[in-house]
Amino acid sequence: MARRPLVVGNWKMNCTRASARRLLDDILAGLPADAKAEVGVCPAFVFIPEASAALAGKSVLLGAQNVGDQDQGAFTGEISAPMLDEFGCKLAIVGHSERRLVYGESSQLVAARYAKAIAHGITPILCVGETLEEREQEKTFAVIDEQLQAVLDLCGVASLAKAVIAYEPVWAIGSGRTATTEQAQEVHAYIRGQIAKLDPEIATGLQILYGGSVKADNARALFGMPDVDGGLVGGAALDAQSFLSICLAA
Ligand code: PEP
Repeated sequence: MARRPLVVGNWKMNCTRASARRLLDDILAGLPADAKAEVGVCPAFVFIPEASAALAGKSVLLGAQNVGDQDQGAFTGEISAPMLDEFGCKLAIVGHSERRLVYGESSQLVAARYAKAIAHGITPILCVGETLEEREQEKTFAVIDEQLQAVLDLCGVASLAKAVIAYEPVWAIGSGRTATTEQAQEVHAYIRGQIAKLDPEIATGLQILYGGSVKADNARALFGMPDVDGGLVGGAALDAQSFLSICLAA
């Protein structure tokens, strides 16, 4: 069965209330009803209530940029999966490299966040990827193995039927330096192959997105690779026209 492409905008800590609303309205106005790709947006948490209202009854999926590893309680600064569920969030990014590297989130914490998303019917977008130094030391596959294994240990391979993986080489994020189509395909095929060893059917159905300086002019080539099922888009997702071009390339 063919995998449906998915394109998700990660707005990070950007936008004002007004500009987030404008961006969303422009995406909704410009997205054709028969777009082949599924499309999602992940605004900052504070914009989620308004985005939730704007997206009611629309095909664009609402996502969060992270999700708590607990359901409720004394966890200052965290937002839980039940809270996101209440606002109709269907997606939650977990393990973004900015969370792992800037805020020190371990693969075990990322796995606990992933588990909570799954438990509450939210699709986690599990980000994996190596730094430039790790790539140069030929550790790319080992890094990805470790990041995947934490999730497999906690939730099992069956959980991947309800998840999405995003391969995001850290050296390509926000740098303007995109992985070549061959580099992306190589790692995507590796990830799918690792999962296939455990469950071939889940591996075949798994959407694996590429992230890292995806732009309107490189999206088609990247999404044309056999194991690249769409993209997680940062900078280019902040401009409705470039985001829409990327969505239409999928
Ligand atoms: C990201 O942060 O997930 C990302 C892919 O960013 P950018 O597209 O800006 O490289």
